[in-house]
Amino acid sequence: MKFFPVFLDLRGRDCLVVGGGPVAARKAAMLLEAGARVTLVAPALSPALERRVVAGELHHEARAFAAADVEGKALVIAGTDDDAVNRQIAELARARNIPVNVVDQPELGSFIVPSVINREPIQVAVSTGGASPVLARLLRARLETYIPSAYGRLARMVDGFRARVQERFATTEERRHFWEHVLEGPIAELLFAGRDADAEKALEQAVAGAELPRFHGEVYLVGAGPGDPDLLTFRALRLLQQADVIVYDRLVAPPILDLARRDAERIYVGKERDKHTLTQEGINQLLVRLAKEGKRVVRLKGGDPFIFGRGGEEIEELMEEGIPFQVVPGITAASGCSSYAGIPLTHRDYAQSCVFVTGNLKDGSVNLNWKALAHPHQTVVFYMGLHGVPILSKELIAHGLPAETPVALVQQGTTQHQRVIISTLGSLPEDVQKSELKPPTLIIVGEVVRLHDKLDWFRPTDSGAAWGER
Ligand code: SAH
Repeated sequence: MKFFPVFLDLRGRDCLVVGGGPVAARKAAMLLEAGARVTLVAPALSPALERRVVAGELHHEARAFAAADVEGKALVIAGTDDDAVNRQIAELARARNIPVNVVDQPELGSFIVPSVINREPIQVAVSTGGASPVLARLLRARLETYIPSAYGRLARMVDGFRARVQERFATTEERRHFWEHVLEGPIAELLFAGRDADAEKALEQAVAGAELPRFHGEVYLVGAGPGDPDLLTFRALRLLQQADVIVYDRLVAPPILDLARRDAERIYVGKERDKHTLTQEGINQLLVRLAKEGKRVVRLKGGDPFIFGRGGEEIEELMEEGIPFQVVPGITAASGCSSYAGIPLTHRDYAQSCVFVTGNLKDGSVNLNWKALAHPHQTVVFYMGLHGVPILSKELIAHGLPAETPVALVQQGTTQHQRVIISTLGSLPEDVQKSELKPPTLIIVGEVVRLHDKLDWFRPTDSGAAWGER
């Protein structure tokens, strides 16, 4: 981290802005908004600044910068068009440990000014570490559209209740649950709908209620998608950021786990072939126990929880125990890998159907209805480890598919480590041996694989490197 992010309280503090152009004007305006007392040093002023001076909002020294100007200041901004002067200001301020920013030359100063989304009292500050102010501004524009304008009002309303909630609930956890209940529930919705008085009344009742609102544990079975964090659903992201505990397994890519609430407990439950860290029954019981402790649990699964994810078994147990749950679909590996490998799963000329299969038996063998799979004009996607490849190749050929049928192996699909290897049914076992593929790998069999040559578009930066060691 190159910069330490902070929000400064400058109310009533003396600050210095040097420069009379539009950039200096913007900085001066920000400082004034934050309640600072601003002295502006510049021989001439832009009309906008002139008006503020006339209105008595800031103090103007109509002259060139002098070293003494920095004395006693809480913060200094150098925004002149003279490089030497900017440097001099920065040096003087730094020597006195006064925070200084040099506009457009972040390396000279000691701090940079972020792009700000303002929903008073909420502020979201965006910085690119000085690398690209334009990018920061673009990001800001996006965030603006995400954050409802009523968030400021919501924050102001709850601010007035903080002390009472503090008294009412003994533990931080109870308080957090209370607030989440308020901020995500009907009370916030009232406010978003413009019924501020009703919202306040409802909050009043919630705080004063004879009974504590009861907080039950819940389990969210969430599909993490195939690896690229951008492929998460909005709901998955929201729940990840709310959950107290994240229970995840090997298929969940590390960057996705990073999106969880920072202080959420993370429990790895493994699931490597032949090396089960916890049995399925153990996982089911863990989910039940955590929920009974009142925790909100995200059970994070690679791809889609209901496609070869044993999600069904996990919620059956929750159902029996009467624990509330939600299932959030994710992009399954077949969908993610085929898109990122430029291999449409169906195509008018090549395949009118597509089957997803998995064939791992407990004893390591593969047992499938080969006759049904070996059909022309059908794409078959195998979700399984590579140990089954020799059987797969032999059986599909034995059941009538030509040995030249193209096959794609997609390793760590959609991630920056993605690798795509094109082979044929006949040479598959040998190609797999040669190519040292790493799990997880998806196998796509069918004529559609021929389209890869033409449609391949994704250029991972780190093809072949490991998914992330744990
Ligand atoms: N529920 C998951 C599938 C779990 S089965 C889903 O919907 O995607 C595990 C198998 O999925 C792996 O053996 C591998 O064949 C495949 N797989 C999962 N993620 C993958 C990825 N990012 N790249 C390639 N294959 C993947």
